[in-house]
Amino acid sequence: MKKLNWKKLKENILDIIYPRHIKCIFCGEELNDKSHNDTCEMCLKSLPFITHSCARCGAPVALDNDGVCLNCKANNFDFILARSVFEYRDRVASVVHKFKYNSMKFLYEPLANYLCEYLSRWDISPDIITCVPLFKSKEKARGYNQSELMARHLAEKSEIHFHILCTKIVDNTSQTKLNLKQRKENVKGVFKFIDDCKPLIKDKTILIIDDVYTTGSTCNELSKIIKSKGAKEIYVLTLAHGLGHQEL
Ligand SMILES: [Zn+2]
Ligand SMILES: [Zn+2]
Repeated sequence: MKKLNWKKLKENILDIIYPRHIKCIFCGEELNDKSHNDTCEMCLKSLPFITHSCARCGAPVALDNDGVCLNCKANNFDFILARSVFEYRDRVASVVHKFKYNSMKFLYEPLANYLCEYLSRWDISPDIITCVPLFKSKEKARGYNQSELMARHLAEKSEIHFHILCTKIVDNTSQTKLNLKQRKENVKGVFKFIDDCKPLIKDKTILIIDDVYTTGSTCNELSKIIKSKGAKEIYVLTLAHGLGHQEL
C-alpha cells in the first residue's frame, strides 16, 4: 500500500478550505473573476501600503529632515536601497504568518504579484533576482522557502534571471526577541556564498527578495557577502516592513 503523504493531504485540505482565486487571501471574502491579486475590493482599499518611507530602507516611520530614519542614520548598510510593499501589521501580518507557518504555499503567487507591481514602478534594473535562503532542515520541515517561491515568480514575470547565490549554514532561528544590536551579531556568518556563482554576479546589480524586513540585519549580511564576491550593487525588496512596530 502506498504510504500516506500527510503533508500533501494537508495541502489538499487547505486548498478546499481556501480555494485559490475564489476567496480573498486577506479576509476570506468571496471574490469575483476580476479580483486584483486574489484580494477583495475592501481589502485593497484598506491594506497598509507604504506610501511615505525612509529614502534608504523603506521604513514607514518618523523621518529626519533628510528623509532618512534613525536606524539608517546609525547604521551603514551594504545594500543601496531597500523597499517594502506593505507595513507588517493587521491583515498583512496574518497573511504572511499563514504563508510561513500554516502550509498555505499557494499564497506565494498573489503575494509575489504585489512585488511585481512594485518592481515595475521602481526605478532600478536588476540583472539577477535572488532570495534569502533558509536553513536546510527548516526548509525541509516547511516544505518550501517562502521567499524563494516569491522571488522565482517575480523573476519569471519580470523576465529577470533568478539564482540562489548563498546557502544558510547556521540556524539562528529566533531573531524575533532580539534587539537591533543582538540581531546584527546573530546573523554574522550564517550565510555561505556558492562559489560557482562568482562569474555570474561580477559587476551585476542584484535584487534580494525576502518576506519581512525588520532591522535589515539579515538582508545586510547577505548583501555584504554577495558584494564581497564582486557584485556591483545590491537592492532589497520585501513584502512587508516591520520596523515601524519595533523598538529601536
Ligand atoms: Zn478581503
Ligand atoms: Zn531607514
